[in-house]
Amino acid sequence: MIARRELLALGALGWMLPARAHDLLLAVPAAVEQGKLVLGKTQPGAKVTVDGAPVEVGAHGMFTFGIAYDRTKAARVEARMGGRVAHRHVDVMPRIYQVQQINGLPENEVSPPPQVLQRIHEEALAIAKARAQETNAVWYAAGLDWPVAGIVTSVYGSQRVLDGKPRAPHLGIDIAAPAGTPIRAPADGVVSLIGPNYVLDGNLTLLDHGQGVSTCYVHQNRFEVKLGQRVRRGEKIGTIGATGRATGPNLHWGLNWFQVKLDPSLSTPTPLPPRT
Ligand SMILES: [Zn+2]
Repeated sequence: MIARRELLALGALGWMLPARAHDLLLAVPAAVEQGKLVLGKTQPGAKVTVDGAPVEVGAHGMFTFGIAYDRTKAARVEARMGGRVAHRHVDVMPRIYQVQQINGLPENEVSPPPQVLQRIHEEALAIAKARAQETNAVWYAAGLDWPVAGIVTSVYGSQRVLDGKPRAPHLGIDIAAPAGTPIRAPADGVVSLIGPNYVLDGNLTLLDHGQGVSTCYVHQNRFEVKLGQRVRRGEKIGTIGATGRATGPNLHWGLNWFQVKLDPSLSTPTPLPPRT
């Protein structure tokens, strides 16, 4: 049985199945924006590649992949089953990103000393390792709910300039809300990392939503889940805080396909979270 939420997600993607649905070997969107988690559908048991690399095919023939924030080239998707082959191109629609100036950070925050850099490096490795997990589940396919209500203070892709020095683009969404506000799982998943007191991220949780799709929760005040715990959509996983490098209580919310950082607001029912 396909859950109702999944049917809604499929319908929203234009996958209202034709009468000869069993003949449909490969369905993907014709074009998506940069930063999009792309949902595809094939026949269960088919072999699918994206840009020539195999991707896992899960329940109901669902598969997924991500389009990086700066990717411009179309993705080439291929499905094969029983001698049949289908090809599709997913075109990429470029976006215009914001530029954000941030001034007045203390010097040790802008250029950390070597021992702090070493910690940052080790923490980044732990995060990359958790994001490399490939769980045989398609929990992501029903879409993401906003994890918290609040005000978006920084959107995906904004170019940050710290005290005049250009930094990596901000590849997540910052949602400001009062400290202690509950953060809720946006979809079913498994807790794949509990990062306590990380230098940049503070208290960090990663949720694995299956097939390489994960979400992260940065700057939390408190953890409400444990490593390996199975969480349900809407379940409380932590609370809003200002731990790590944060200018005030907020949630940095990120979405990944393996190591590719995506825009979670392209997978939510509305482009902005509800206001508090
Ligand atoms: Zn952020």
